[in-house]
Amino acid sequence: MTAGPKSKRLFESAQEVLVGGVNSPVRAFRAVGGTPLFIQKAKGCRMLDVDGRWYTDFCLSWGPMILGHAHPKVVMAVQKAIREGTTFGAPTEREVQLAQKISEALPSVQQVRFTSSGTEAVMSAIRLARAFTRRNKVVKFIGSYHGHVDQLLVKAGSGAATLGIPDSEGVPDSWAQDTLCLPYNSPKAVEEAFGRWGNEIACVIVEPVAANMGVVVPQAGYLKFLRDMALKHKALLIFDEVVTGFRLAYGGAQTVCGVDPDLTCLGKIIGGGFPVGAYGGRKEIMEKVAPTGPVYQAGTLSGNPVAMAAGIETLTLLKEKDPYPHLARLTTWLANGIRERGLRYGIPLQVNHTASVLTVFFTDRPVVDWESAKSSNTDRFASFFHGLLRQGVYFPPAQFEAAFLSSAHTPYDIERVLQAIDKSLTSVGGRKHPEAKVPSQSKIARPHKVPAGL
Ligand SMILES: *Cc1c(COP(=O)(O)O)cnc(C)c1O
Repeated sequence: MTAGPKSKRLFESAQEVLVGGVNSPVRAFRAVGGTPLFIQKAKGCRMLDVDGRWYTDFCLSWGPMILGHAHPKVVMAVQKAIREGTTFGAPTEREVQLAQKISEALPSVQQVRFTSSGTEAVMSAIRLARAFTRRNKVVKFIGSYHGHVDQLLVKAGSGAATLGIPDSEGVPDSWAQDTLCLPYNSPKAVEEAFGRWGNEIACVIVEPVAANMGVVVPQAGYLKFLRDMALKHKALLIFDEVVTGFRLAYGGAQTVCGVDPDLTCLGKIIGGGFPVGAYGGRKEIMEKVAPTGPVYQAGTLSGNPVAMAAGIETLTLLKEKDPYPHLARLTTWLANGIRERGLRYGIPLQVNHTASVLTVFFTDRPVVDWESAKSSNTDRFASFFHGLLRQGVYFPPAQFEAAFLSSAHTPYDIERVLQAIDKSLTSVGGRKHPEAKVPSQSKIARPHKVPAGL
C-alpha cells in the first residue's frame, strides 16, 4: 500500500527480532492495515521515511513534539547536557529547574517526582493515593488510557459502576477488582459509584480532556463536579495530564478549567522528546513518598540530566513564545475545514477538537464517551488515513487517537492537509464530483469545542 520498499524490508527484519516489529503496539499499523513507515529523520513538522518520502506530521510522536521535531534550541541544550555526562545517579541542578518550572505552571503542584515514563508516573500516583487515603478502590473512565499500569488496563461491562475485568491477559482478576470503570462525562455514574463505595474509593483518575478514545472534551462543569465529589468523600482527584499538560495551555487543563486536582501526572511534552514522566501535587501528600515518607518509588535514570535539559528548553520556549493562540487558530481552521468537507461529500463525521488536539470520528453521533466513540466506522478511518499518507500527510495510525499540531505547522500546512483531505474523503466513499452546495459556516455543527468553563 503506502509504505516504500525499504520500510517493507525493514519491517520484515524487525518482525524477526522485535515483537510485532515494534516497541509499542499501535506503531504496527494494525488498526489501519498496511506496513508502518520507518522514519529516518524529522525537522519541524516534516518527517522523512527511509524511502526518501517527506510527510507533514500530525502525530508528533503522539504529542511530545509541540515545538516540532529537532527544534534547534532544544537540540543545542541537549548537546550541551550530553557533553557534561549523561547520568550520575546523584542529584543535578537541572532537576530542580524543571521541577520549579512545572510547579510555577501548575499551581496545584507544590512538589514533583520525576520518573522515566507516563506509565510510571500514573502507577506511582495511584500507589501514593492509596497510601494517603488508606483505601484501595480506584475510579477510572472507560476508554481512558493511563499507560500500561496493571490495575488500569481495565475496561468495564456496560451499565453504571461495574467492578473491573482485566483487559490484558497477565493481569490477575484480583489486581483489577478494585478498579471501578465508569463512562466518561456521566455525573450520574460517579454519584452511584460514590453512593455505593464512597468510603473505599482512594482516588478518581481522569484525563481532563480525554485523548485516548480519540479526543473527547469534558462537558461543562464535569471536572468541577469530580472535584466536589472527591472532596466530599475524602478521595483524591488525580488529573492524568500526560497529554494535556503544557498542551492545552502552558498551565495544562487544570488552568483552563480552574480545577485543582490533588495529584497530577505528566509526561510527553515535559521531556522535550526524551523519556520522562512526573507526578506531583500538594506537599502534604507528596511527602508520603520515600525518602520523606513510607511509599517506595525510585528510578535509576529518573531525572536524567539530558532529558531534563530537553524539558527545560521546551518549557522555556513555550513560555516565551506562547504558541497556544496560534495553535488553537490553526486547529479550529483544520476542524472546520474537515467538517465542511464531510458535509460536501456526504460523509458522516464528527470532529472533536480543543487547543491543538483533534480527532475525526466517522460517525453521525456526537462523540462524548467511549460508547459513542465506538460507533465510528474504523474502515472509513483506515481509508482516510491511507488516503492522507499517500499524499504526504502523516496522521496517527488509529481511529481512537488524537492528532496533534505543533508550533512548526503553518497556515500553508493546514491548506495543504485540507487539499489532501479533499482527495482522501473521495476515497473514503464520498461523491466524486462534489456539488458546490456547501452549507454556510453557521450551519456547520461544532458542538465539541471546550466550553469556557471546560
Ligand atoms: C501516553 C499516556 C500515558 C503513558 O505515558 P507513557 O510515557 O507512554 O508511559 C499515560 N496517560 C496518558 C493520558 C497518555 O496519553
